[in-house]
Amino acid sequence: MKYYPLFIVLSLVTACLFGQNTTEKNRVIETVTKDQIKSHIYFLSDDLLKGRETGTPENKIAAAYLANALRGYGVQPNPATGTYYQEVPLTKTEAPTDMAFAIGKEKYTKFVAFSGEPINFGGPVIYAGYGMEADYKNLDVNKKFVVVKAGSASAQDAQAAYRLRAQKKEWALANGATGIIEFVETNAQIWDYIDHNFNGGSVRLASEEKNKEGDTFHHFWIYDPDGSGINTLKNEKETKFQASVRRELPKDIVSYNVVGVIPGTDPELKKEYIIYSAHYDHVGIGTPDETGDTIYNGARDNAVGTTTVLSMAQNLAKHPTKRSALFILFTGEEKGLLGSEYYVDHPVLPLEQMVFCFNSDNGGYNDTSLATIIGLNRTTATNAIKNSVAQFGLKAIDDPAPEQGLFDRSDNVHFAKKGIPAPTFSMGFNAFNGDVTKYYHRPGDEADSMDFDYLESFFRAYVLSGRTIANEPTTPFWSEGDTYEAAGKQLYGN
Ligand SMILES: [Zn+2]
Repeated sequence: MKYYPLFIVLSLVTACLFGQNTTEKNRVIETVTKDQIKSHIYFLSDDLLKGRETGTPENKIAAAYLANALRGYGVQPNPATGTYYQEVPLTKTEAPTDMAFAIGKEKYTKFVAFSGEPINFGGPVIYAGYGMEADYKNLDVNKKFVVVKAGSASAQDAQAAYRLRAQKKEWALANGATGIIEFVETNAQIWDYIDHNFNGGSVRLASEEKNKEGDTFHHFWIYDPDGSGINTLKNEKETKFQASVRRELPKDIVSYNVVGVIPGTDPELKKEYIIYSAHYDHVGIGTPDETGDTIYNGARDNAVGTTTVLSMAQNLAKHPTKRSALFILFTGEEKGLLGSEYYVDHPVLPLEQMVFCFNSDNGGYNDTSLATIIGLNRTTATNAIKNSVAQFGLKAIDDPAPEQGLFDRSDNVHFAKKGIPAPTFSMGFNAFNGDVTKYYHRPGDEADSMDFDYLESFFRAYVLSGRTIANEPTTPFWSEGDTYEAAGKQLYGN
């Protein structure tokens, strides 16, 4: 009998905790519904939006849709602009056209022209070994092109060639040369990769593009699979080359991050913000698949992530948490994490008030019993996330494919580098294979092929996780010994 009071106390505590949990869970179920989720994903991945490539009109339509959703929920706009947008200035370089290259009697169709300038040029070339500093001794290359072997005497592979590219340009310039033609001895697979990377068009942050105009130095890479090209040239005295590359000058374009805020309810904790983020751009139109489809709809990548943020915003507009919320939907992720890079250098609120970045990015899923959180165990929010995910019948696991380097390959990494704990919440996958690779960056990544019963649990799990972290008395931080712990201590001054 003497245990009676304790029993009462315990049941009261249990009842309270249980009550609180069910209330929180019900708040999530109230706003996160299958129909609501479908409406976002079907619109964002519609063929009409042509794969939401950064800088296209359809990418802007997606941004307008997101801004309008936030507006409709009653989310406050970007405090820095009074709109729901943050302008991201970009520079777009088109792929070159009409490329032709001949040297001596040999015509080359596989080459890269690195310079931004159009060229129609010919003239004598001079062989200069590997084009290292010592190779210019006793050579007069003034106002001429040098032809060299890629890499160095100790390493001729493509990586070595790439590492030496800038230095070789410096040496050539120092000796008065007009340009370099490098012969790269490599296999077809690596050459395809080089071709795709350097001959395709590109989009970069405007601030990064330093050589936009006035760079008249020309730098070529020529595919020389067996090294025979350069070997013939080595012994020829008077060789001439002719090259023409037509390329438009880089253009300034603008794309947008979409930004909104919901203030917290606790007088102290509201000074701390949780960022809820995801990229909304995708890769646009590209190579057709076996069905002839050319539109890369990006339903999983990343209409799903975008919808986690919208679901959070809708929920918090109705039931705000103690901590404040900052929603950011990034552009330019597929071009090299550009929107998030721009954001951390131009934050709309002080970064040191951002105590957590709960990002969502998705390649695909192959296990509907899971939510896969890249960096689950790297912050002190592990249990908050695990328990919330479990409430909807799913299991939270950490990165099952560390070899893919996913933590450092999405927008969260820019926040992590600044010191902000920043895991990425993704649909369940237990390995980077099967249904993940089947849809990852493929035209078949469409809404119709997704399991919306699973998605309803997935989105609810994300929203409850966010709410739990935003209401907990202790501020989340990096796990002890994490790569980014020191950056975190510096940011928050502790
Ligand atoms: Zn993505």
